[in-house]
Amino acid sequence: MKKLMIYIGMAAALVGCAPKEEKPAEQPQPKEEFKYLVDEFADLRIMRYQIPDWDQLTLQQKSYIYYLGEAAKCGRDILADQNFKYNLVIRKTVEAVLNSYQGDRECADFQNFVVYAKRIFFSNGIHHHYAEDKFFPEISEAYFADLVKGSDANLLPLNEGETVDDFIAFLTPVVFDKELYKVRRSSEGDIIANSAVNFYEGDIKKAEVEAFYNKMRKPNDATPISYGLNSKLVKENGKIYEDVYKADGLYGEAIQAIIGWLQKANEVAENDSQRKYTQKLIDYYTTGDLKIWDEYNIAWVQDSLSHIDFVNGFIEDYNDPMGMKATWEAIVDFKDLEATVRSNTISENAQWFEDHSPVDPRFRKEECKGVSAKSIIVTTLGGDCFPSPPIGINLPNADWIRKDYGSKSVTITNLMEAYDKAADECPRSALKEFAYSQEEVDLCKKYGSDADVVHTNLHECLGHGSGKLLPGTQPGALKEFSSTLEEARADLFGLYFLAEPRMVELGVMPDAEAYKAEYCSYIRNGMMSQLARVELGKDVTEAHMQNRKLVSEWCYEHGKDANVIEKKVENGKTYFVINDFEALRGLFGELLAEIQRIKSEGDYAAGKAIVEKYAVKVDPELHKEVRDRYNALGLKPYGGFINPEIVPVVENGKVVDYKIEYPSDFVAQHLKYGKEYSFLKAKH
Ligand SMILES: [Zn+2]
Repeated sequence: MKKLMIYIGMAAALVGCAPKEEKPAEQPQPKEEFKYLVDEFADLRIMRYQIPDWDQLTLQQKSYIYYLGEAAKCGRDILADQNFKYNLVIRKTVEAVLNSYQGDRECADFQNFVVYAKRIFFSNGIHHHYAEDKFFPEISEAYFADLVKGSDANLLPLNEGETVDDFIAFLTPVVFDKELYKVRRSSEGDIIANSAVNFYEGDIKKAEVEAFYNKMRKPNDATPISYGLNSKLVKENGKIYEDVYKADGLYGEAIQAIIGWLQKANEVAENDSQRKYTQKLIDYYTTGDLKIWDEYNIAWVQDSLSHIDFVNGFIEDYNDPMGMKATWEAIVDFKDLEATVRSNTISENAQWFEDHSPVDPRFRKEECKGVSAKSIIVTTLGGDCFPSPPIGINLPNADWIRKDYGSKSVTITNLMEAYDKAADECPRSALKEFAYSQEEVDLCKKYGSDADVVHTNLHECLGHGSGKLLPGTQPGALKEFSSTLEEARADLFGLYFLAEPRMVELGVMPDAEAYKAEYCSYIRNGMMSQLARVELGKDVTEAHMQNRKLVSEWCYEHGKDANVIEKKVENGKTYFVINDFEALRGLFGELLAEIQRIKSEGDYAAGKAIVEKYAVKVDPELHKEVRDRYNALGLKPYGGFINPEIVPVVENGKVVDYKIEYPSDFVAQHLKYGKEYSFLKAKH
């Protein structure tokens, strides 16, 4: 899941403020005045997303989505508590102030408090959702105390007999102390003691955790359960045990609510296969048995026919310093049929692309099968996917299930669209800043989003799967350079074929000009704008960023004599301009052939040389220039969403339809969720 988040981070934050032309009438036209970008604060943007094609669903399908959507909202407290043991106390206090504070709400102090509240809602806690460090309100401790005292004490999460003053004395250091609960997940020193995350309780050492789970593991188990996935590990009186997340265990009240909605959903499921695995999920939530979780995943991953789909559970382990315990998350979605047809077309033609790939025929695959990627429209985000979601999902996570039963790989088209449209509404534009001419801006506005999606499809559905190793070549031969070279290979495969006339014949690309938009933004990003994400003085280290730099710099250098890509400096600003698109395509093909050779032959020395020469080192002057220009735009690097509301339409006591409303107030949605979907007691 993480990979695609990094990808959109790129697209949205950098290439991102790249507006895109309205799509022609093939999609139901959203209401004229629909605004995607609704709020900005701290380093965050809040957007809305649309649910296109809603009216084409049947009443039964809408009911199904509605019930699953309710289930997706019921685990919000779980995530907050997992992130840090006092998050619920703080969130409920913040909610109490927002709901009941009687004092001045117009003053700067109160506005600063509101920003703090929004950041807590956004991050599901007091640690930054991405950087994981604790953030602080820009108000004084005294003002914070005034706010709490000026609010309805009945709404505060006080312990029995606790006075408001005592409560404030407890809470103040938790909120304000710079050293206390500093980071959510630490990778330094005693990674458990130094992490504020709430997966471990009591004085547990890393070695004790390892010993606890090593004892559980069965040697040579070909189908191991995901040990530790759904529990907190507690040490009490010297004894270590798992407090399991289940209906009658930890987080039970929230889990029971989730189960209740899943049961309702199952009454209106589309087919037996959905009913079967949803029942498995209910059984798993009821018992906490990870064996049933695997059975659920196996059944879920094999369902490719249902129109509606969902994710609901303890799934990703990124927040655990030990990489075992999973945060709760949920998504409800249905198929984006049009976009799925396009990626299917690419997959079905996999062999044609392979046979026409510009690599040495010895390295081509004789029999090539494309991976078909599904595109989806999400209807509700929950838990760790809300408000900041991934734009793609690849599940399940258990390696043996992926190997034996496959995985579902999806891209979320309505969120990608919302990112693009919101960037369009943003008055400050990275595209305008880094593109050389109005002509280039117009080209990117016209074709940018479509070309980018097709490039991603080619990369994912064909690029990674293309080519073969020569007999005798070890798969791991490229060692530490393998990811960068692999990403470069997949990107180049996509770039080369994006300009292929057959793409237009197949109806995948709109016309023969469209690929140029992707070429422009790729080179602009690879040569310059992605450097905004790298700290001054540092090298480029992330594999996808290294790959883009490698591809761009190699083509710049190898096309220099023919002036294929030209560096221009005007008014102290650097630009890279493509003078010859056909020649650039030729260079992409040449580099693809070379990198395929390196992979097929396992030529470690050549792989190392090309990565070290083109992918890592940054020209310090250009780096500083890019960062200055980017920072001057004041763009918010992280984005999140407000969920649409799915509202039952009742006539004569019967639900006859569900309509979609698009609220635009971020705080109001969270206060509503705080009232309607809060099931856990805030303890301190
Ligand atoms: Zn890739």
